[in-house]
Parts: sequence; C-alpha cells; structure tokens
Amino acid sequence: MEATRYVYPFEEADSRDRQLLGGKGAGLAEMTRIGLPVPPGFVITTEACVEYFAKGRKLPKHLMIEVKTNIRRLEEKTGKSFGNPNNPLFVSVRSGSAISMPGMMDTILNLGLNDTVVKGLSKATQNGRFAYDAYRRLIQLFGKVAMGLDDTYFDVILRETKKRVGANLDTELQPKTLGEICQEYKRVIKKELGQEFPQDPLEQMEIAIEAVFRSWMGKRAVDYRKEFKISPAMANGTAVNVCTMVFGNMGPDSATGVAFTRDPGTGENVLFGEYLVNAQGEDVVAGIRTPKSVLHMKDEMPKQCRELEKVRHILEKHFREVQDFEFTIERGNLYILQTRNGKMNAAALVKTSRDMVQERLLAKEEALLRISPEHLEQLLHRRIDLSTQVEPLAQGIPASPGAAHGKVVFDADRAERRGTLGESVILVREETKPEDIHGFFRSKAILTSRGGKTSHAAVVARGMGKPCVVGCEEIEIDERNKVATVNGHRILEGDVITIDGATGYVYQGEVPTVEPEFGPDLKTILKWADEIRSLGVRANADTSKDAATARKFGAEGIGLCRTERMFNAADRLPIVREMILADTTQERQKAIDKLLPMQKSDFKKILSRMRGLPVTIRLLDPPLHEFLPSVESLVWEIERLKEVKKSLEQMETIPDSFKVILEPSLQKHIPPIEHILGELSEIKEKELFDELLQRKEEILRKVRETAEVNPMLGHRGVRLGIKYPEIYKMQIQAVLEASAELIKEGVDILPEIMIPQVCTAQELKQVDRWMDEIREIVEKKYGICVLFKFGTMIEVVRACMRAGRLAEVTDFFSFGTNDLTQATFSFSREDAEKKFLPLYNEMQILMDNPFEILDIKGVGRLMKITIEWGKRSNPKLKVGICGEHGGNPRSVEFCHTLGLDYVSCSPYRVPIARLTAAQAKLREMRRDRAELEDPDYPFNVSF
Ligand code: PEP
Ligand code: MG
Repeated sequence: MEATRYVYPFEEADSRDRQLLGGKGAGLAEMTRIGLPVPPGFVITTEACVEYFAKGRKLPKHLMIEVKTNIRRLEEKTGKSFGNPNNPLFVSVRSGSAISMPGMMDTILNLGLNDTVVKGLSKATQNGRFAYDAYRRLIQLFGKVAMGLDDTYFDVILRETKKRVGANLDTELQPKTLGEICQEYKRVIKKELGQEFPQDPLEQMEIAIEAVFRSWMGKRAVDYRKEFKISPAMANGTAVNVCTMVFGNMGPDSATGVAFTRDPGTGENVLFGEYLVNAQGEDVVAGIRTPKSVLHMKDEMPKQCRELEKVRHILEKHFREVQDFEFTIERGNLYILQTRNGKMNAAALVKTSRDMVQERLLAKEEALLRISPEHLEQLLHRRIDLSTQVEPLAQGIPASPGAAHGKVVFDADRAERRGTLGESVILVREETKPEDIHGFFRSKAILTSRGGKTSHAAVVARGMGKPCVVGCEEIEIDERNKVATVNGHRILEGDVITIDGATGYVYQGEVPTVEPEFGPDLKTILKWADEIRSLGVRANADTSKDAATARKFGAEGIGLCRTERMFNAADRLPIVREMILADTTQERQKAIDKLLPMQKSDFKKILSRMRGLPVTIRLLDPPLHEFLPSVESLVWEIERLKEVKKSLEQMETIPDSFKVILEPSLQKHIPPIEHILGELSEIKEKELFDELLQRKEEILRKVRETAEVNPMLGHRGVRLGIKYPEIYKMQIQAVLEASAELIKEGVDILPEIMIPQVCTAQELKQVDRWMDEIREIVEKKYGICVLFKFGTMIEVVRACMRAGRLAEVTDFFSFGTNDLTQATFSFSREDAEKKFLPLYNEMQILMDNPFEILDIKGVGRLMKITIEWGKRSNPKLKVGICGEHGGNPRSVEFCHTLGLDYVSCSPYRVPIARLTAAQAKLREMRRDRAELEDPDYPFNVSF
C-alpha cells in the first residue's frame, strides 16, 4: 500500500481541496499557479494533523522525511540553504484550516536562524540590527509557541534592557544590545524550561510543526469552533504552511502590509489597505507603529504601487470575490504571502454584489448567494454602533432586532401618554398582554423579564418592527412600585436605557446607534432574488400601517392578519370587555353591534392598502381572558377601594371624638376637618365606592369564571367561535361588507378568511354554514357577488392527521408553527425558552430552539404528511406558513423544499425571506438527486 502523502509544494498542490490544504494553503497554491509572486514553499496537509492526534500526539512516520525532501527543493529553488551562515534560508511556519479562524492558532517566523547563522546574516546584509532583531523575534515566538514559555518573561527582558540603554523604541536598539537580548532570552528558556533553544534548523522545524498541530486543540481554537459551530465536516485539523521568508524590514526599500481589493467598509472599487516601511508583518498587526494608507504608496513606492494594483485585479478576476491579502516588499520586490475572501460589512457586501455583476465578474446567482441573511438583517434595522464599547447591564433573549434608547416606563398607559407627548420611551414589563398594545404603539422598544421568542411581546414587537428583548430574567421588575433591579443596580421610571434586540443586551443610558440602509443596491439585489425564487413571500400584518410597510418591503400579500390586535385598541377594549362580561346573548349582541363598524373599517383599510394582493384575515384566536384584567390586579384594586372606604368612615368620627376629648388645642382643628368631610360626602352620597366595588367584584367573578389552568390549550380559536357564534358571525360580516363596499368602489381585492385552532372538519363546516348565511345577506344588501377564499390554520396535531378531510372543505392551509411546535413537543411556547431550552441546547439534547428554527424532523415531518394528504383530496389546495418560522432563513429554505406556496413573516423580515427563498432555489438547482436523497441532507424528512 502506498504511504499517504502529507506534503505538497505550492505548485503541485490541488488548490480546490481546501479541506486538505486549509484555506491559506489553497490560496498560496492557487496564487502560485496563476503566476503571482508567492515565495516558494510547501503545505503539510490537515490529514497529517488528524493523524498526529490519532496517534496520541505523534507526528506521522514519514512526515519529517517528506519535509526534509521539500526543504531541499526549497534550497534548490532559492539557491539558499538551511543553516548555512553564508547564504541562509529562512521559513515561516503558519497554521491554516479549511475555515478561517483568525488569530486562533499559532505561527512562527524566521525559522532557520541560530547563533551561527545570525552572525553570517549580519555580515551578509551588513545590517546587524536586522539580523539580531530577526533572531530575537524567533527566540521569543518559538519560546512561547513551540516551547510554551510565558510571553511575559521575554517582555520583561526587553523592557528592562530598553530602560537600561535609554531606548524608547525597539528600532533604537543597537545590534550589540539585540544580541544581548537574544542571549538573555535563551538563558531564561533554559532556566525556566530546563531545555535549550534548539540550534538545529531541522529540529526547530519539527518542533514548530508539532506546535502548530497542537494549537488546533488549544483552548482558543476549540472555543472558537464551538462558538461558530465549526464541525469536523467543515474543518478537520490544521494544515501547516512552510514558506520562504521574505523580509519587509531590510531597509527603506522594504515594506509590509495588508490590503483589500475593495474597501470593505463601503464596498467602493478601490485598493484599500495599510503598510509600514521597513517593518515585519507582526508590526502592522501589533500596532507598535501606526501604518499608512496604501494611498501613500503612489508617492513613496510608485513601482510597487502599480504592481499592487495589478495584483488586486488579478486576484479579483481569479477568485471572483473581494480578497483580503498580505504583501511584503523586500528590497523593492513585491511578494504576496496570503489571500482570502475579504470580510465586509453588510452595506459593502450588498454594494460589491451589485457592482461585481455589473462588472461581469459575477453572475447574478453568485452575487445572491454571497449575501447571508444575517447580513441583510443588519441593513434593515438600527443597530448599536460597534465602535462604542459599552458593558451591558444584562442580557435577555433577542426577540426583535434593532436598537433603541428611551426612558423606562413600567405600564402601557403611561408609555402611551409619554410617547404621545413626544418622549422616547421603552416599555418595561414582566410580560405583556394584548391589553398593553396601545403602549407598544408609542414605545420605541419593549423589554420583558419573562417569556420567549414567541411570547406576546416578541410576536407583536416583531410585527411592528420594534426592537424587543424578552425573558431578561436578571432584571427584577416591580411594576407597582415602578422600579427594576438588575444585579444590584436600580432602574427607576424615567431612567434612560438602550436595548439591542439583535443581541438581547440591555445597556444603561444612551448608547449610540447606526441608521439602517435600504438603498438602491439592496433594492436591485432583491429584484434579482424575486426573478429567481419560486416561493411566495407574504407578511403578517394587523394594521393598515403594517400593510404599508409590508408592501414597501416587497410582500406579495398578507398571510396572517390577527384580528385580536384590532380588539385591543384603547377605544375598543371596553366594548370587548362588555362583550365578554355580558350575561345574556342580547347584551353580548349589543356590544358586538358596536364592534362591527369598527372591524369593517379596519378591514376596508387593510384590503384597500393591499389592493391586487391576497389578504388572509384570521378570525379571533386568543382566549377571552387575555382581554380582561388579571385576578391579582383586580384583587389589589378591590382591597385598596375597601381600605379607602373604611378610612373615610373612620375620618367621619374624628370631629365627634375631638369634641368629647374637650382638649382646647384640638378644638380649632374641628372646622377644617368638617370642611374636608363635607367635600368628601359627595363621593359618599353618590355611593361611588359601592358602585365601583360592585363593578370590580363582578368583573373579578367573571374573570375567575373564564380563567383556565391551561389557557393556550383551552377556550380559544374556533372553539371560542363555536361557543359564541355572534363573535365570528360579526367578524365574517365585517369582512364581507368591507369587501362588498370596496368592490363597488372598484378596488381589486382578494380576501381570505382563516379559522384558527381547528382540529376537525366539523368545526370548519359549522363556520362555513354561517359564512353561507351571511354571504347571502351581504350579497342581497349590496347587490353584488363577493368572492373570497376559505382556509384553516394547521396548528393542532390532529389537524395534521385529518388533513385530507380538512382540505375537502377549504381552499388553503396555513401552518401556524408557533402552536404546532408547542403541540408537537408539548413545550409551552411561553416558558420553554427561559426554563430548560438553553440547557437542552447546551447539552445538545436539542441542537436548536424549535420556536426559532423549525424542527424539521418532527414538526417538518408533520407538515410534509399534512401537505401530501391535503393535496391528495384537494389538488388545488394552497399551502403557506404564518408562524414565526416563516421569517427564519433555514426554515424558509425548508419550506421551499417542501413545496409550500408561500411563507408569511413580519414585514421587516420580508426582504430576508425574499433573499433566502432565492438562495434556496439556487442551492436546490445545484444539488443532484443523490444529494437530495442522502439521509444527511439537512432538509430530508424521509421516513
Ligand atoms: C401560530 O401559532 O404559529 C400562529 C401564527 O398563531 P399565533 O402565534 O397567533 O398563535
Ligand atoms: Mg397559533
């Protein structure tokens, strides 16, 4: 059997194999292949690293033989030789895995120097300072990285020596002093480690290779891989790149620098970077001297500047991606030492995508695939200015992206009042309820100490595009006393805080933020996405304002209009409460009659705003108690009322008591007290307290009556509609009358009525009967025919199992994956994210949060069955998704592979869904059949 080959010279390596060569090795090999000035070198493969660990941290058998052969070849190519003081070869030994892990692994420079070679080098270059400085750097780096001695030993020696000779900068040190530092460095290594600094360059090489391999398992690298979820399938082991050293510190005609082929901050098509004359690479990174912009090179090194410009074009043309590259100029000769894809901010990524298509460097498809949805997110929301480094006070669950600052307000009424007066406020609550909605409208952001990503606060804030952090349990909120405590720090009402809904951080005071950018570049990119994608994108929008935003962001309709939001407006809540608290059907009908014109006007506004596009209106869903005050607050209010009443009664006895006491000093107080009592008697006479108390107690009785142990699994959705038909009938009438009036006005509308929480076709048939009745009445009243679609949400497991039957009586299904996830896992969507899900994720019992990223294997499988059975009995059935997953990129991709007609998400996620849908289609087109059927294919839900 042929032994595995571990070492490849740059010119022989197959640069397509990044897994084997690592990104850096592949880049060097490719640059060599296309004729760029790369110093000769070779790559030791990642396989050797894997083997090193497999063998219990021992280098593979033949590795050093291969390395020596390749060193010999380097010697031939360069005409220099390893360890030869008269014409020495030096190399750098650098790490590099398939996925870039900047700064996480180790590198050693100037390898090949020793006590003899340094003397020769000094003589040959007539530059003792350069020679001894290079040696000093090698001993320090080697001592630290390869031998494991703490850096501070070297720092102390350098610092003290500089002090002793009166030098401020390293560059002021004389060769003799540098030589002494080398001696000191070697001495400290021997003293602390009991080992000599190796003088044999090949021995140095072997130790350095091992050190680089070891750094793959170093804490930094392991933590980094964990944080960024870099699996062995993505990068397994590090390669070692051995490259002939070129020196940027050989005099004024030498330099070193890093550059980008375009400006990574703006995307502008110009050479961008920094360099230092007479310096080594690490000086640029370490910030010892301030580098200059490459723009200065035009004057300082015009020839090399022209060469760099040429290199920039060659690199981009070849790699078809913005490159971030390192270069060194040694005595006027330019060398390229590394290249990789440049990391850019979101605006630059979008601009370069558009520009590179227009410059014919990229196809539209490639341009779309290089923008990650996370990047797009950055462009759509205000965010914290990363240049300000402020410590957060606490961290909760990031629920709706964007950053905002404002004064803390602990209740919705005050948030509304102060917000209306033009103050920037942040609504801070333990959790929010639908009745807080008016406070949301006037707040800049929402912060809660409880709840998860699908809690009320999260869903509503996302829908409104307001920053929101939920489940921030470090903050203790005392709503009644209007104070919050976080890690011993008190936040009072009116104090300013900043929240970042993208990270979940909460900051004290005002932290600077950066504007979102929805400019022409992004619009062009999204237009290209629309040309490619087959999956529709709608928005979840409850108001005509949301609908306008949805349209602006390119939604092709509304996939979910939650009508309960309309019930929560300040002017309606009292009527809704009347409706709920009514004892008789007639009383209830009276309240409902007042709601009808309001709902009708809402629907008219939304439908006309979305003219030409479908609008799915969902009938009332949440349990009724959500519209009522809580038992605790009612009990508290009743107790206070009773106390006040009692105090009043006691006050009335004061004048008589004073009279009986016969104490002259008290007598003069009797008239003012009697005066106050006279004023208060009005309240008493009107029996205001008794009436109030009676009303509150009545409400409390009803609230207790409607209370359920498990409201999310209780009297809600269609079950509510069946119990109180007047409510659903009113809503149906409102939709149909709004539609009839718009049709008469010539507005092109496409209404859809959707029923929530359905578990059997019988429920739908019942609602359908009401619909027929009402439609007949409305059509007669307006003298026209009103067409609309009838559909059901799929959010109950039984609905999935009965999909065939449900599809017989509906035009469409819409997956409510918030509830369907809750039902599939039996995890409460309100609590799971803050209680046990983080632990489950940490222990890898579950890999993701299923309320955020759709659970393909469980919920996804249910969806697949539902679609198959549904379409079997109704081939024309349209299918969408309106749970929060509809805006999550991975979940959107899954929805595409399932063949859904559309996803519906918050208006602010519409651009993200448009891009992701296009990327899903492009990736699907690239995959072949075998890959799609592979059990490891991430979207495979085969049985
Ligand atoms: C759902 O359950 O996914 C859904 C969209 O409905 P809601 O979040 O309003 O319960
Ligand atoms: Mg639901």
